[in-house]
Amino acid sequence: MPESIKTLEYDVLVIGGGIAGGESALNLADIGYKVLLVERDLTIGGKMILLSKVFPTLDCAACITTPKVSEIARHPNITIFTGAETEKVTKLGEHRFEAVIRQKPRYVNVSDCTGCQLCEEACPVSVSDQYQYGMVGRKAVYIPFSIASPRAAAIDIENCTLCGACERVCPTQCIDFTQTEERFLVKVKSVVVATGFELFDPLKIPRYGFGQYKNVITSMQMERQLAPTRPYNTILRPGDGKMPDNIAYVLCTGSRDKTVGNPICSQVCCMYSIKQAQLLMGALPMADITIYYLHIRAFGKGFNEFYAQAQDMGVEFVKGKVGKITEKENGNLILRYEDIEAGQVKEAEHDMVVLSVGVLPNRGISETFENQKLELDPFNFINQTDILASPAKTSIEGVFVAGTASGPMDIPDSILSGGAASAETTSYLRRAVS
Ligand SMILES: Cc1cc2nc3c(=O)[nH]c(=O)nc-3n(C[C@H](O)[C@H](O)[C@H](O)COP(=O)(O)OP(=O)(O)OC[C@H]3O[C@@H](n4cnc5c(N)ncnc54)[C@H](O)[C@@H]3O)c2cc1C
Ligand code: SF4
Ligand code: SF4
Repeated sequence: MPESIKTLEYDVLVIGGGIAGGESALNLADIGYKVLLVERDLTIGGKMILLSKVFPTLDCAACITTPKVSEIARHPNITIFTGAETEKVTKLGEHRFEAVIRQKPRYVNVSDCTGCQLCEEACPVSVSDQYQYGMVGRKAVYIPFSIASPRAAAIDIENCTLCGACERVCPTQCIDFTQTEERFLVKVKSVVVATGFELFDPLKIPRYGFGQYKNVITSMQMERQLAPTRPYNTILRPGDGKMPDNIAYVLCTGSRDKTVGNPICSQVCCMYSIKQAQLLMGALPMADITIYYLHIRAFGKGFNEFYAQAQDMGVEFVKGKVGKITEKENGNLILRYEDIEAGQVKEAEHDMVVLSVGVLPNRGISETFENQKLELDPFNFINQTDILASPAKTSIEGVFVAGTASGPMDIPDSILSGGAASAETTSYLRRAVS
């Protein structure tokens, strides 16, 4: 029997529900267009919903993201598919696109789930929590985190033993193991690609010891430790649960480095590291923080002042290239580095090291475009074919790009880019009726 596929119609398909895609969807929906927002993850909000505070204002990231996310979720003109991906997009003609969307089963009826977490308590299976970047565990049935949208449970079927404990305790009987993957044929007039970025994998630089030395962590792991939805109630080094008092940051881990295939600057690592250093000084007032850098890129409004503020607070900045990290018996780490200003190779001991990992392209989305090529730039981000006059324009007329899908940028620029994509989409859609 052929697989059944539901046909749906919207004005715009937005692929990716981070801050950039969310902004585009919201603007288009406010104008009156019907938007389908397709998000691969179990929650919308992208990386921003996982952050602690934001540079250079130190505003709470969740306090900015949560109202926006709930506005998107409640908007009558926006339909959201989470746990869903675009299988293919075909341009049939001007203002005529068809997309095939695949939505994975969640095994929980979202509308009936109250988020009570009784299922989580009952589930006997613990696995690594991807939203805490592996620092703690989660259950096989889980709510991603407390401010997730939708705030509903999902079952990780790969790790589930089908013991039925969650089903037995669920007060609303919303767990449903009969759910299967669904496919939709979606007809739209325009597409916004807002698939964001990937983080550099520090395992690709073995001399830094990530994955081998427990007290070498990534900046995203530190971001989670500093966030309101954090894994522990304080800052801990994973090796022994001790509070660190001498933390080092290694900037440009996986950025501006041809040897790992990423020659470009990630634009946000200097500033988020300076932000984290300031937050750590608040959380651990006795701690020493040292930032090893090649150049500090403090190019935005208020960024240089933010950098100076960190220096005034006592954060130490060392212009140095870290060559190798080794571990002592007590879990402390020895950084061997070239002190660029002194012209010497030196060593320094720290009890925790944070690798400021770079921003990489999120590959794969261009291949889903079937009969016309969604071009990439030399660094594999989506090519902005008219970057100066029409920055959201791509190689396919009617397909626009928003946020870090086109290259590294911070949150304000991602929101601006989401706004530009919605404005250019609107003008394209208006050409359809005139
Ligand atoms: C450690 C760290 C700290 C940071 N701190 C700050 C800060 O303090 N201030 C600041 O301004 N910026 C900061 N940033 C940068 C900030 O995270 C980005 O600017 C912002 O998240 C970009 O938003 P986006 O929507 O473009 O991408 P993302 O946040 O990556 O969102 C993309 C979304 O698309 C989804 N997606 C991907 N592929 C598909 C697909 N094929 N189909 C459907 N959905 C898909 C993803 O699941 C994700 O939800 C920080 C970054 C890092 C790594
Ligand atoms: S059925 Fe699966 S998800 Fe539910 S409690 Fe058992 S192991 Fe956990
Ligand atoms: S699935 Fe059931 S038990 Fe689990 S959070 Fe939702 S309502 Fe509660």
